[in-house]
Amino acid sequence: GALPPGGSVDAWVRAAHARYAPDDAGTVADYIPVLAHADPAWFGLSVVGVDGRVHQAGDTGIRFTIQSISKAFVFALACEAIGHERVHERIGVNNTGLAFNSVIAVELNGGSPMNPMVNAGAIATTALLPGSDAEERWSAVRDGLSRFAGRDLVLDDEVYRSESGANHRNRAIAQLLHSYGRLDADAEESVDVYTRQCSLAVDAHDLAIMGATLADGGVNPVTGEQVVSAEVCRDTLAVLASCGLYERSGEWLFEIGLPAKSGVSGGIVAVAPGKGAVGAFSPRLDAAGNSVRGQRACAYLSRALGLNLFASA
Ligand code: GLN
Repeated sequence: GALPPGGSVDAWVRAAHARYAPDDAGTVADYIPVLAHADPAWFGLSVVGVDGRVHQAGDTGIRFTIQSISKAFVFALACEAIGHERVHERIGVNNTGLAFNSVIAVELNGGSPMNPMVNAGAIATTALLPGSDAEERWSAVRDGLSRFAGRDLVLDDEVYRSESGANHRNRAIAQLLHSYGRLDADAEESVDVYTRQCSLAVDAHDLAIMGATLADGGVNPVTGEQVVSAEVCRDTLAVLASCGLYERSGEWLFEIGLPAKSGVSGGIVAVAPGKGAVGAFSPRLDAAGNSVRGQRACAYLSRALGLNLFASA
């Protein structure tokens, strides 16, 4: 089935926004220095159906950096380019149970990056993209994510420079993967492309369109373009279900029942296969790095719109 009739979705999105706007739990990320400048009051919700209809409330036009949400779409591009088997073998698809920037997760698993939704696995996934150098891989990322969004996404240079000056940990992770022979491109270049991909500017509406493309078998419901195959969407959504909210993925699935991905700027995309997607944005985060309002609004909408994948009624 599809989403409920349009007018009722509009009303539920507005109700979710009104309900959680006063909620000020959580803290804004500051380990990437400029992220601390975000206004903690920002809160936007957008729902896009596979029919291309848009339902939104709040700050859906405020731009923020996509951060870890890029991991989902770069993984899809890598699957499309090199196939299910090779991505499974090189990256892995199991949750680490540890923080997104964990070094010990790599060590404990014999040098495996574990899954594409933590930093180690995302850097290794970026390194798997076809291209003879970092510029070609970066073009593939920017063009691919732009096709998911249906518009040309642009780098936020201030965030890119801020993170580049503070990403010693990601560089250590890349060097560690390299030492285990688990990185398919130069370590410093791979981290740089990864940092750029995290610095692409999006808004909540873009996230909803990107998610709706995964919900729609790879066809962007607004542009009509086939961005990736339906098989790649299936594989990407499976990894999001197990790993999309880091070590809190189990709790998320238990409460909300949808594949999703979060990022430290406060974005969340939650995908209802065959129906559409929710794009949420609010900068205050829980201890794992997931938007608090975003999670609560997605839980509310999942119940109100009947999106939980595990519900038989
Ligand atoms: N660019 C961020 C980092 O590598 C992304 C992390 C996130 O969104 N959880 O730390």
